[in-house]
Amino acid sequence: MTEQGERGEQELRRGLVATGVSMNQSGLNQGTSGNISVRCGRDFLITPSALPYEQCGPADMVRLDMAGAPQDRRQSSSRRPSSEWRLHRDLYQARPEAGAILHSHSIWCTVLACLEKEIPPFHYMVAVAGGDSIPCAPYALFGSQELSDRLLATIGQRRACLLAHHGMVCYAAELEQLIPLATEVETLARMYGQALQIAEPPRLSRMEMAAVLGRFADYKAS
Ligand code: 13P
Ligand code: ZN
Repeated sequence: MTEQGERGEQELRRGLVATGVSMNQSGLNQGTSGNISVRCGRDFLITPSALPYEQCGPADMVRLDMAGAPQDRRQSSSRRPSSEWRLHRDLYQARPEAGAILHSHSIWCTVLACLEKEIPPFHYMVAVAGGDSIPCAPYALFGSQELSDRLLATIGQRRACLLAHHGMVCYAAELEQLIPLATEVETLARMYGQALQIAEPPRLSRMEMAAVLGRFADYKAS
């Protein structure tokens, strides 16, 4: 690896640690639940299993190739990768535009996921995940290939998905985009969950959501 490549990897490792700490501090996750990864060359870096984020340093991040084999040749520590590494690996392989992935047990996403409910098009911002709903993948054991297969079969072309009786997953092009996206999805889950306490909210039509998706393509700061 070139010197610049190594510097780049160190920066990604630091970014991964900071994103993990921020995920818990912002209330999007708690304890050692959840995990985050970022592409690094042909491989990816992922948070270690069961280690509190605030105790993590850059060297604790684990580099895996797309077969799941450790690639941390020069790192002093060799932590176990997140138990959900298969789900991260499979998303990277299926979605070339995914540059970073976040899995959390955020409260309102998990409330809906425990009811095996998707987030329907009750609000136009549901399109933030790239479709007209944020679906809920059927339950499977955490860390299993089955969970990854069910996620992939359910998420389709979207950037976010709930995991039944578990939590949520989302991906973005860049690491810095993960917390903002996870925050939007968690906010939508909370709004939907709170609306449900009054009544099942009416849904926007396919055409209305298609119009939102079209407008989002051009929604950016000048
Ligand atoms: P890890 O600590 O192995 O990443 O597991 C946390 C989790 O949320 C499993 O689904
Ligand atoms: Zn989990």
